[in-house]
Amino acid sequence: PPFTTIYRSFAEQVERQPDKALFELPDGRQITYRETARTVGRIAARLVADGVTPGDRVAMQVDKSPEAIALYLATLQIGGVFLPLNTAYTGAEMEYFIGDARPRVLVCSPERRADHAHREGEDLVVETLGTKGDGTLLEGDGRHDEVVDASADDPAAILYTSGTTGRSKGAVLTHGNLASNCQALLEAWQFTDQDRLIHALPIFHVHGLFVAANMTLAAGASMYYLPKFDVETVVELLPRATVLMGVPTFYTRMVRNDRLTPEACASMRLFVSGSAPLLASDHETFEARTGHAILERYGMTETGMNTTNPYEDGPRKPGTVGKPLPGTEIRVVDGETGQVLPDGEIGSIEVRGPNVFSGYWQLPEKTAAEFRADGFFITGDLGRIDEDGYLCIVGRGKDLVISGGYNIYPKEIEALLDAHPTVLESAVIGVPHPDFGETVVAVVVPAPGQEPQETELLKFIAGDLARFKHPRAVRVVDALPRNVMGKVQKAELRKRYQDLFVGSNA
Ligand code: ATP
Ligand code: MG
Repeated sequence: PPFTTIYRSFAEQVERQPDKALFELPDGRQITYRETARTVGRIAARLVADGVTPGDRVAMQVDKSPEAIALYLATLQIGGVFLPLNTAYTGAEMEYFIGDARPRVLVCSPERRADHAHREGEDLVVETLGTKGDGTLLEGDGRHDEVVDASADDPAAILYTSGTTGRSKGAVLTHGNLASNCQALLEAWQFTDQDRLIHALPIFHVHGLFVAANMTLAAGASMYYLPKFDVETVVELLPRATVLMGVPTFYTRMVRNDRLTPEACASMRLFVSGSAPLLASDHETFEARTGHAILERYGMTETGMNTTNPYEDGPRKPGTVGKPLPGTEIRVVDGETGQVLPDGEIGSIEVRGPNVFSGYWQLPEKTAAEFRADGFFITGDLGRIDEDGYLCIVGRGKDLVISGGYNIYPKEIEALLDAHPTVLESAVIGVPHPDFGETVVAVVVPAPGQEPQETELLKFIAGDLARFKHPRAVRVVDALPRNVMGKVQKAELRKRYQDLFVGSNA
């Protein structure tokens, strides 16, 4: 099929079904495709007046609102490069992102206007956008209709990675990346204009914007658009919805909710999880409680979605992230030599396809280092391909613990600890050790009302684990440090326990 941008797909839906609700808000208000298009045209006029020309960055750091999606579409319409920023970023972080990306326009919430006054000048216009349809961005009643026809290789967005393993990098995604990934997902999950999606994800991340929102806009579907995940609201919406796209923490909270029943899920056809590993126990409980097997998928900022468990044409296998999406190739190689490994062996996961980004923003050396000569991108994740061709993620390269020369994959130990009745969840990390270089420390969160005991836990896992993999210390904590996407911040844990075996605490 000929190349169609996300903006064009949206515009086609506006033509085809102008009066259909695109957004349904918690207060019951509906916003149609036609109304959204009007806001897009109005914002586009404002951005053009602010001097945005093709290739200019438009940065956005605002709370989730329908107008924020209109801003995204308006930016694409005029050939701008959309740059959504995490609403949690403050002072020094914003300094870095603004300095790095040098946007033409920064759209912030009205409350934060003053924080950015010093940035405003010849090179940067500051606009505001609130959640009540307020803000300077919506002032004026211009309407810009002209569309800059982007080609597949033109940049559409810069999305900063989550910063789980180090400083966030700006991934430059093209119109082709967004459109091809969206089409592949529509096909894989059979997503259509009949779907009613529960959208409870943030929109400054690949999952909420380039998966959930793009699919809805391109398919001409509707979304229940929530400012954030709230378990009560989501469970209440289930009987009217068809699809939930979520992260593991959604499911951890849902399985503890009394109203999660098969009846509540009668209209639902698909529950998706990704962005971080899904707890096996949550998966089991969820299926027992609802009759739905959660479909786990794998993606990242740099590549959009890479793999998914099957929607219909095969079993969903817990503990795996499924098979490559149409058009995407996945291989597992020896990280050192780049040799493709036989199925079953653990190695570095690499991906190639129309979904793979064009490079890191202004980091040509970093970009060159992360791509192989044949075009495969080195994801930094470790995995293996099982006997059915499903990919299993074993962890991140950076989380690998090397103790006394042995490779230790934290996930293997975490899975054993998680199976103990006193443990809700766990994180295994490597900390400096004078003899072994690194050694293993387990951090566990108690199951409700339980008190995990170190000796008992070590006995429980010992039988299934070679001696060099045994944790040298177990620490019990109330909760694991997580970022907004539910990713465990292992760097934070490593810092917390870095002196356990060396230095003053040794
Ligand atoms: P940074 O690259 O800045 O360290 P990050 O990798 O967490 O941060 P994202 O692009 O948001 O930033 O996340 C992608 C990563 O999330 C993947 O590389 C992978 O490690 C992890 N991930 C995504 N989906 C899954 C999944 N289903 N199971 C396990 N891990 C997953
Ligand atoms: Mg990453």
